[in-house]
Order: sequence, then C-alpha cells, then structure tokens
Amino acid sequence: MEFPSKLLEKAVDEISQLPGIGKRTALRLMLHLLKQPEDQTNRLTEALTKMRQDIIFCKSCHNISDKEICDICSNPARDHQTICVVEDIRDVMALENTRLFKGIYHVLGGKISPIDGIGPSQLNIQSLIDKVKKGEVKEIIFALSSTMEGDTTNFYIYKHVKDFEIITSTIARGISVGDELEYADEVTLGRSLIHRVPFESAFKAV
Ligand SMILES: [Zn+2]
Repeated sequence: MEFPSKLLEKAVDEISQLPGIGKRTALRLMLHLLKQPEDQTNRLTEALTKMRQDIIFCKSCHNISDKEICDICSNPARDHQTICVVEDIRDVMALENTRLFKGIYHVLGGKISPIDGIGPSQLNIQSLIDKVKKGEVKEIIFALSSTMEGDTTNFYIYKHVKDFEIITSTIARGISVGDELEYADEVTLGRSLIHRVPFESAFKAV
C-alpha cells in the first residue's frame, strides 16, 4: 500500500497491529478521524493512554480494576467462599451480566496449552491454590470453555485442591462444547451456572 504521507502510514501501521484490523480497515479509521474535529482524536488518545497507565489488576482475583481490590472482591454482600474460575476478564463480564452469581471470581488469564507453550506457572493458578490451602474457599466452580485446553486446566487445578474439604463443580453444559463463554447468551450462561454439576462426575462422564 502506497501512502501519500509517512505520518498516515505510521498511524495505519500501528492500528493494523490490533487483532481483526487489517490495513484497509485501519486506513478507513484514520481517514475518518482526519475528517472529524481534532478534539475527538485527542479524547481517543487520552482515553487509551489513561487506560494503559492507570488500569490495574485486582490483587485478589486478577480481574481488571481501577483499584487494588476490585469492586466484586470488596463487596461484603458477595459470598467470598464461592469462587468461579474463569479464563478471561471477558468471562467475568459475561457472567456478571447474568446477575445470577453472588460469589467471587478468579481470573486465570488463559488456559494451559502445551502447544502454545503456556504452562500452569504462566497463569494465575498458584494464587487460587493458596486460597484453598488457607481455608478461604468453600466451593470452586470451574467455568472454563469446554475445550481440551479448558479441560486440562480444570483437571490440573482439581488435582491440587481435591484433598481439601471443598466442593468442586463445573458449570452445566448448556454451553456447547467448544464454545467460548463470552459468546453464550445470558440465559444459557446463567442457567449453566445455576445447574452446575460436581466436577468429579463431569470429569468421569468425559
Ligand atoms: Zn477482585
């Protein structure tokens, strides 16, 4: 692609690094911004810079937060002994939208995937196991997507917590096998949380 301006080319290059955005889309977005008042671009860059600089991850559950401990973890009305284990921050958002879950979350930040070189130590797994060891947990609900990597991750955690006196369950599979949680509709997702099944029986059924 030939650009009439190096500045435009640089901006298009940067934007096209984002997932799902090719050079053509990036160019369309940049030309759109150039047609708008300069103030709009300033607000956009300021929002991005501020988000990048100021956002932090909750020290307890690893959810994205504006504070050291996120609003969910610091809410006394929530059941702090019931922990829903999810892969991603988007899953917390999807489950919160159902308004059915009153416990707290634990965001792993991914799934164990040897092919991609992701092992347990690269994920937020140890901090979850530590919570169980400290006796802070009554129930763990596995809510990872039902893929091979999701199952491997569930089982790895299960192995480390099964000897403690806690309940382990997994969300019922109203969710199709292979589906990502964030794409499930709220009713299906909410129902699968309410009708969760003991992890052991779900594991044996596989
Ligand atoms: Zn939190």
